[in-house]
Amino acid sequence: MTKVDASITAEELIELPLFQGEAPPELSWLPPLCRIEEFPAGQLLLAPERFEDQMYVVLDGEVQVQLDAKGERVIARLGRGHCVGEMSVIEALPPSAYVTTVVRSRLLLVDGATLRTVLSHSRCVTLNLLRMVCRRLRKDNLLLGRSLVERDELETQAWVDALTGLYNRHWFDQSLRVLIQHCQHREAHLSLLMIDIDYFKQYNDTHGHLAGDLALSTFSQTVRAHMRPGDHAARYGGEEIAVLLPDATLIEATQVAERVLTAIRQQSINGRHGEPLPGVTASIGVAEWCADETADTLIARADSALYRAKRLGRDRSCLAHNTVRK
Ligand code: GH3
Ligand code: MG
Ligand code: MG
Repeated sequence: MTKVDASITAEELIELPLFQGEAPPELSWLPPLCRIEEFPAGQLLLAPERFEDQMYVVLDGEVQVQLDAKGERVIARLGRGHCVGEMSVIEALPPSAYVTTVVRSRLLLVDGATLRTVLSHSRCVTLNLLRMVCRRLRKDNLLLGRSLVERDELETQAWVDALTGLYNRHWFDQSLRVLIQHCQHREAHLSLLMIDIDYFKQYNDTHGHLAGDLALSTFSQTVRAHMRPGDHAARYGGEEIAVLLPDATLIEATQVAERVLTAIRQQSINGRHGEPLPGVTASIGVAEWCADETADTLIARADSALYRAKRLGRDRSCLAHNTVRK
């Protein structure tokens, strides 16, 4: 830290946003009470672990506000005219963040007692300071809003499958366990559909993987469109969808399965350029959760019903037995 030309005139002060609009004679007492100092790049000015009762105004250079001491989480960079430390002075509390110089910077130092005197004497400076703090708060709110949106998007990406738009396997595994716990307490019904596209390997081999992707995506949308409100479809694996039907008995789940099968038979699939592609059919295993049953055995029963539907010729649904059969 180097002490530079320690003087600043009242005329120079009113060029700074904080003092703008004030008449220079009103501030003539202030310059002798302020200091100007020059700091090298990377100088720590404020830290939450120490209370300084001092405000810095950037005259030249740049400072950054950061959430950590290392400077890995920078939230703002402030140039000429900006103040730091003023909130700490007003609240008489340590700063809420770290502030360091980004480049060699010339700063005006106003100690707490002087700042409080200016504020009690000048309505103009008080309003300027209020305006600057409001502007910063508004900017922080925008940043906060944006980061909440980003966090929501990341959360969504964490449980949604990109190709089908359905929930992913991770979401399904967690939700099924939660629903089973819920059913154990309430003695409620819960059913599961395991839906698998028929001869899909052949579809890919004949029409190409891209056409297969489009068929899979259309199939997924059809399944989703024909569920009841409150049912949830997830991509369980490659071309297999699992549907959770809370409060559905085996009979109700079978009705949903039949409705889905009809819709799949009728759906039209379009290629990348809108050209029609051949349709697909699917097979479904339907199981209702039995009291005290684990998620794994419920899935195994639905799966074995699905394979029975495959063995019986596909494009149909089969109901699960009450015990797992090989
Ligand atoms: P089955 O009627 O017995 O279900 O026959 P299948 O051919 O559908 O069954 P199999 O398990 O042999 O093949 C599944 C195929 O699904 C193989 C794989 O290439 C395809 N598949 C899995 N995921 C995707 C995907 O994301 N996109 C595409 N295009 N194909 C996929
Ligand atoms: Mg298949
Ligand atoms: Mg499969």
